[in-house]
Amino acid sequence: MMFTPAELLEINALLTPENRIVILTHYNPDGDAIGSSLGLKHYLQAKGIHADVIVPNDFPKFLKWMPEAKKAIIGEYKRKVAFDLINEADVIFCLDFNSSARIGLLGDWLVRARAKKILIDHHQQPEEFDYVYSDTVIPATSQMIYHFIEAMDDEKLVNKDMAECLYTGIMTDTGGFRFRSTSATTHRIIANLIEKGADPSLITSNTWDTNTVSRLHLLALILGRIEVVNNVAVLYLTRDELKEYGFQKGDTEGFVNYGLSIVGVKMSAFFMEDLYEDFIKISFRSKDDVDVNQFSRKYFNGGGHINAAGGKSYESLQGTIETFRARVEEFVEE
Ligand code: 5GP
Ligand code: MN
Repeated sequence: MMFTPAELLEINALLTPENRIVILTHYNPDGDAIGSSLGLKHYLQAKGIHADVIVPNDFPKFLKWMPEAKKAIIGEYKRKVAFDLINEADVIFCLDFNSSARIGLLGDWLVRARAKKILIDHHQQPEEFDYVYSDTVIPATSQMIYHFIEAMDDEKLVNKDMAECLYTGIMTDTGGFRFRSTSATTHRIIANLIEKGADPSLITSNTWDTNTVSRLHLLALILGRIEVVNNVAVLYLTRDELKEYGFQKGDTEGFVNYGLSIVGVKMSAFFMEDLYEDFIKISFRSKDDVDVNQFSRKYFNGGGHINAAGGKSYESLQGTIETFRARVEEFVEE
C-alpha cells in the first residue's frame, strides 16, 4: 500500500537539501534496481535535493548507459565511502529489496544506521522499516517510484533523465511488458514516460542489443543441453565453462527464461557455479500459480516473487541438481 497521507507529509519534511539522503538497492542490481534508484535520484535532484545511490556490488555494462549510472557508489569497491554515507545519512531509501540480507555487506551498516529508513519494494514479506510502501502486485519498483512521485503531487517534475531510468526498470522487470503483473496502469505510466522524453527504441537497444560474443557462446552451450523432466526445465553452467568462454558480469542474465519458453514447461531452473566461491547460484522462473518464491525459501535459502526467484546451494553442482529434482517431487506432492 502507498504511504498514508500523514506519512507522505512526514517524508516530505525529511526531503530537504540539508538532510543527507542515500538510496540503496539490492545485491547484483538488475534493471529495476538501477532504474528505480536513479529515477528517484533524478526526482530528488529536480526538487533541488542531492542523494547518493549506493549498490552493494557492480552491475552489468548494459545498465550503465542510464543517466548518472556511473556515479553510483559500488560498495564492494568503495567500502569506506559507502560506510560513511550510510552511517551519516539522515534518510535512507531502500529500493527493490525486502530484507537487509539482500544487500550484502551493506546490510549490517543499514541495520545500525540512525537514519529514517524508507522502503519502496514489490517483493513479498518485507522486514520492518520506518516507512513502508510495499505492493507485490506491481511489476516493478520503478513503477512504484512513479506512483510515489504522483502521491507527492510532483508529476510535473518528471524529466527525460527520470523517464529513461523508470522506463528501463519497468521494461526489464516486466520482461518487455510481458509478465503477468503488467497492467493497464503500467502502460499508462509508460505512455507518460515516453511523453517526458523516454525513447522506447533507444532504451530497448541500449539495454538489450548488447550481447557479447561470450554470452552468445554460453547461450549456445546451455541451449544445446537443456533438459525437461515433468514440465520442469533444467539449465546449468560450470565454473570451468565460464572461464573457458570468457564470462563477463551480466552474460547469463535472462538465460533461465529460455527454459520457460518451452511448450508445457511450468518451471525453469538455472544453476551456475560461482566464479570464485564454492556455491551454486540458482535462478527460478515459473508460470501461473507455481510459487517459486515459496519453493526457494523452503529449500534453497532464497526467495523473490511468485514467478521469479533466486537461491543458493552449497552442494556440488551435480548434487544440487539431484536435490532440486527430489524437492520438486516433494513440492508437487504437497
Ligand atoms: P534472479 O533469478 O534474476 O537472480 O532473481 C529473480 C528474483 O529473485 C529477483 O526479484 C530477486 O530479487 C530474487 N532473488 C534472487 N536471488 C535471491 C536470493 O538469494 N534470496 C532472495 N531472498 N531473493 C532472491
Ligand atoms: Mn524489481
